[in-house]
Amino acid sequence: MCGIIGYTGSDAAVPVLLDGLKHLEYRGYDSAGIAIQTDAGLTMIKTSGKVDNLAAKAAVTEGLEGVCGIGHTRWATHGTPNDINAHPHMSADGRFAIVHNGIIENYLELKKDLEKKGIVFASETDTEVIVQLLAYYYDGDVRRSLMRTIRRLEGSYAIAVLCAEDPGTVYAARMSSPLIVGLGSGENFFASDITALIQHTKDVIDLEDGETAEIRVSGVRIFDRYGAETKREPRHILWDIAAAEKGGYPHFMLKEIMEQPQALQATLEPRIKNGRIHLDEVELDMAKFNRILITACGSAYHAGCVGRLVIESLCRIPVEVEVASEFRYRNAVIDEKTLVIVISQSGETADTIAALKEGKEKGASTLAICNVVGSSIAKLADQVIYTWAGPEIAVATTKGYVTQLIVLDLFAVWAAEKLGRLDEKTYGKLVKEIRALPSKAQRALDLSSGVGRLAKSYHEKSSLFFIGRNLDYAVAMEGSLKLKEISYLHSEAYAAGELKHGTIALIEPGRLVVALCCCERLYEKTASNIEQVKARGADVLAVAPESNRKIYGEADHVLQVPDTADLFEPVIEIIPLQLLAYYVALENGCDIDKPKNLAKSVTVE
Ligand code: GLU
Repeated sequence: MCGIIGYTGSDAAVPVLLDGLKHLEYRGYDSAGIAIQTDAGLTMIKTSGKVDNLAAKAAVTEGLEGVCGIGHTRWATHGTPNDINAHPHMSADGRFAIVHNGIIENYLELKKDLEKKGIVFASETDTEVIVQLLAYYYDGDVRRSLMRTIRRLEGSYAIAVLCAEDPGTVYAARMSSPLIVGLGSGENFFASDITALIQHTKDVIDLEDGETAEIRVSGVRIFDRYGAETKREPRHILWDIAAAEKGGYPHFMLKEIMEQPQALQATLEPRIKNGRIHLDEVELDMAKFNRILITACGSAYHAGCVGRLVIESLCRIPVEVEVASEFRYRNAVIDEKTLVIVISQSGETADTIAALKEGKEKGASTLAICNVVGSSIAKLADQVIYTWAGPEIAVATTKGYVTQLIVLDLFAVWAAEKLGRLDEKTYGKLVKEIRALPSKAQRALDLSSGVGRLAKSYHEKSSLFFIGRNLDYAVAMEGSLKLKEISYLHSEAYAAGELKHGTIALIEPGRLVVALCCCERLYEKTASNIEQVKARGADVLAVAPESNRKIYGEADHVLQVPDTADLFEPVIEIIPLQLLAYYVALENGCDIDKPKNLAKSVTVE
């Protein structure tokens, strides 16, 4: 998820690695480290916090002279972000050092196996099993041992490896995590992306899943998943450094919107095995609870509004949802039979922390859904389910929000099954629907190519309404917030059926109403509300499933999304609305990644 750099050449490796890591900082990280091949073997230094801390440590550390090394910026997924868990990790015999991006799903099983063989682990990470396994398999041939090792790994990885006995060589492997080879003259590189390399070379080869590679001063070799050497033509990069940081996108927000299918997949994949949901991290006796209370702020609160409807519908337990800043001062009636679920991307949201403490004090069980490992909320809550969205840089959340939704969906189906509320057939169907969400998210992105054009005609609208019913209403709130946050246009989200009780007075010719129509069972009801606003001259932009042809007779414009089971449609339906907000903000010349007055993580009351 974060950054890797590998170098072999004739320059001192430390400055090259530190500079590469500096350029990878934009990806977000919590700790950093490097390992160098020296005459005395492998030497590593690592630290939590910034690359500058690492550079300061390197400046006062002896014995880092060497021309070959690896570096890493870590975004923790397994184990708190401290010095020990920072990468590189070394094998117990000191022969190998490794850096890794991704998640090893079967690490516990591998760790237990290795521990039985007497291997002592130094860190809490999933990564360490790779390097210990590699040392265990080592037979004098690094590449062969690496191939044996990766055959045992389940999950995602980009890894770079140093072996004390193989000076001047860096080995690498990749599976579902990016890694490129950079071709220099008299020097070669590995990196997570081109930003780390662009000042050295613009000629790169993208490694593919299942491949392994070796770089030396004399050249680069790439091998396919069966170990056969393959030849690959390099591509020449034309981007400059600023564009490269954003992967060619003009803004982080757009990049993160486009990354949503991968973020959903990363969050989902390790938790579904053989058609069953495994939330191994959660130990909850669901039968104990007579109530669930979800509390959060901003978009996370909107995710909670979706979660309420999904959990209630499947588990048949009453669920309430409340903004954390209100909940914390309400003296709510909760007890040990209440499950309090808090949601926060950063895990540092002050109001949510206070709400969580309030829940704990009153004896409730607490479950956190957050994206940042080792964050305050993750530490405070009894249980945590992490979203594996990777770092989110843009202030307005997109991939953070949809991964919260998919975790809530997983939790709802998991809990309903534990409560005996689902027969096997329905359970299987629901799991299948959830599994399809990452590819449907991709389809939603593909279908949204016309949003930019629509934004051109809408960007001057003065005040908009987002309407919908049930889950569509929950998504309307998030769609409206997204637009407000980054384009500064005023909008309001309204339960479609509520509009006529007053607010319809504001509907006048030319008023834009965004009507969310993905809840199939309520479509006819929402269609009547569309007619009511059309009759008063509103322009209607509908978001509707591809199979809904009727909508073309009701709305002025339609944004299509793939057909999805009603319960899970929010994950898909929000995508065109994120893009609408993005393109309207672009038209209005707003500072999209850093909207005025907003902060990424709200650590004040
Ligand atoms: N899963 C690994 C860890 O938690 C790697 C995280 C990353 O991609 O930075 O250490």
